[in-house]
Amino acid sequence: MNWLRREDLEDQELHRLAPCASKSRDSGGRRWLEPEDPLRTSFQRDRDRIIHSTAFRRLQHKTQVFAADTGDHYRSRMTHSLEVSQMARSAANALRLNADLAEAVALAHDLGHPPFGHVGERALDDLMAHDGGFRHNAQGTRIVDLLEQRGRDGFGLNLTLLVRRSLLKGEVPEGFPLSPDLVRTEPPPLEAVLVDHCDKIAYLCHDLDDAIRAGLVAIDDVTELRLWQEASTRTGSSHLARIHSEMVAILMHDLVETCAQGIAAAPAGRPRLGHSGSIQVASDELLRFLRERFYRSTRVLEEMAVGQRKIEAVARRLLDNPNAIPEKMRQRAGPCSDARVVCDYIAGMTDRFLMQQ
Ligand code: MG
Repeated sequence: MNWLRREDLEDQELHRLAPCASKSRDSGGRRWLEPEDPLRTSFQRDRDRIIHSTAFRRLQHKTQVFAADTGDHYRSRMTHSLEVSQMARSAANALRLNADLAEAVALAHDLGHPPFGHVGERALDDLMAHDGGFRHNAQGTRIVDLLEQRGRDGFGLNLTLLVRRSLLKGEVPEGFPLSPDLVRTEPPPLEAVLVDHCDKIAYLCHDLDDAIRAGLVAIDDVTELRLWQEASTRTGSSHLARIHSEMVAILMHDLVETCAQGIAAAPAGRPRLGHSGSIQVASDELLRFLRERFYRSTRVLEEMAVGQRKIEAVARRLLDNPNAIPEKMRQRAGPCSDARVVCDYIAGMTDRFLMQQ
């Protein structure tokens, strides 16, 4: 029986993918040279390493907006990452970009998030104010480069350069300890930009869904939103799950159509990926709505304040007594300050583990 070898998949990419797509033969290689896999392309292999990592399993117990243990049906960072990867894969396939790369990046994009979401991020950034700061995206590269171990000291998951570079979206604080080969010289691959848009679509839609289910947002208020109106007109339904699904579809179809136009308009250059003007306006409106009614609601702010105080207390205790950090953790962090080891250790904690400290 015939079977597809990695080389066949790589050849297929050359025919199937758009010229601006990232090809797995151009992955930029790994820091530690390894023989190629006989079955999987380098991006497929990276994706599998991410799924099998401890950091990925921890996402199940990390906050998206609500603390991860407050309800069985609210999104955790893991369900969020799975939603993003499914969207990014579909969009990348439609645009003839590399869906394996998009999937790997989507699954890894939140690995660096500390417990208690953005509040946790701010608390750790304050802790590290004079020592390179903290951002979840930069921390993601520390996790895949150092803190996850596959048995070879100092190389973490040993992912390809293109996947590692894709994790570095947004700002990296001055002095943050990045691997030297990640100091940026080129823009990230288009697949990483696409994942960024899918990330936003996923959280806008599922945060609205979670906010309604939690009773923090009233349906009467939501019906003022353009996206909600459009989705309920198209479905002819008032059922929450139907409208949620239609909102995702409206945003995704617009993203794919607008990106396809952008790619067609820039056959040789770098295309602009994003939404059409009217959908961008509707998406911004939803983001403003969520900020005012959900992210800054009393219940969410109270939960987050508890998390922030806990992170600050645990950090103080560990800084006073760095020996309380497991030896394995210190070795993985490599040569760095005690504060950085404390920061790595806390950033890796799940909400639950932090609260038990
Ligand atoms: Mg995300």
